[in-house]
Amino acid sequence: MFIKCWGSRGSISVSGQEYVRYGGDTTCIEIQAKTGELVIIDAGTGIRRLGNSLLSRNISDYTLLLTHTHWDHILGIAFFKPLLYRKTRIVFQDRKFGNFDTKGVLKEVLKPPFFPVQLKDLHADIKFDTSLTGSFNIGSLAVDTIPTSHTEGSLGYKFTEDGKSFVFLTDNELGFSHPQGQPVADYIQFVANADLLFHDAEYTKNEYVRKTGWGHSSIPDVMDLASKAGVKRLGLIHLNQDRTDDEMDAIIVDCTRVLKTRAQANNTQAIDCFAVSCNYEITL
Ligand SMILES: [Zn+2]
Ligand SMILES: [Zn+2]
Repeated sequence: MFIKCWGSRGSISVSGQEYVRYGGDTTCIEIQAKTGELVIIDAGTGIRRLGNSLLSRNISDYTLLLTHTHWDHILGIAFFKPLLYRKTRIVFQDRKFGNFDTKGVLKEVLKPPFFPVQLKDLHADIKFDTSLTGSFNIGSLAVDTIPTSHTEGSLGYKFTEDGKSFVFLTDNELGFSHPQGQPVADYIQFVANADLLFHDAEYTKNEYVRKTGWGHSSIPDVMDLASKAGVKRLGLIHLNQDRTDDEMDAIIVDCTRVLKTRAQANNTQAIDCFAVSCNYEITL
C-alpha cells in the first residue's frame, strides 16, 4: 500500500520559516490500495493540497474516513476542490459524532455564516456509508478500528494488505483514560508488529505534566507503546503548533538515542523513529 501524509500538524494550522520542513497543514492522510482504491483519513487543512493533487492525477473515486470532528481534522473540507466536480465520486464513512451523523456535520460546517457554499451546492456524487465502522474492507485493504482515549472520543485505524500493516492513532492520550478510551494493553495489541505506526505525539515529558487530560500523548508514552508492540517504524504526528522544525529534530535525536539503547538492552532491532512531515510518503 502507498501512504502519503498531506498534513501532520495538530490543533491548528501554522505557517512561518520555523515550520518549513514539517509543514503547517493539519491532519490528512492518503492511502492507496494495490487494487487502486484511494482512502483519505481526515479533512484537516492538508486536504486542500491533496484535492489539487487528485485532480492533476485524474483520480476521482475516493472513500473518506474521519478520526473525529475537532476542527483540526475537518477544517479543510470546504477547500477540497474535487467536491465541486461532477466526475467526483466520494463515499463518506457515516457514523455518529455527538448528536450529528457525518452528513449533519458537513451541513453544519458548510453553511452561512461560516461558509457561503452549502452541501447541496456541491456537484460531486456524495454517498454516506454506515458499514465503514468496526472491521471492513476497501479493495485489498483490510481495515480495523479502535476507539482512542480523547476528549469526546476519536477513532484509530489499522490498514493491512499482503501482511504489511499501517496504524494511524492520532488524538490518543495513552497516559489518561477518557470515557471511550481502551486500556493501554488494547492499544499495544492493536499496533502489535505494525510496519508503520503514526501516533499522536503532541507533548514532551515536561509539557505533559501540565496537559494531562487534554487528550494527547507524551512522546515517552508513545515510545513505550511502540517498543512494547514491536513496531518497525514510528512516525510522530499531530505535531504541536508551537514546535519548530529545529525543536522537532532535537526531539527525534533524543528519541532515536533512547530507542537504540532500549533495543541494545533487549537484543532487538531499534525502531526507526521520525517526525511525520507534510510530504512524507512510503510504500509498504
Ligand atoms: Zn487533533
Ligand atoms: Zn481532537
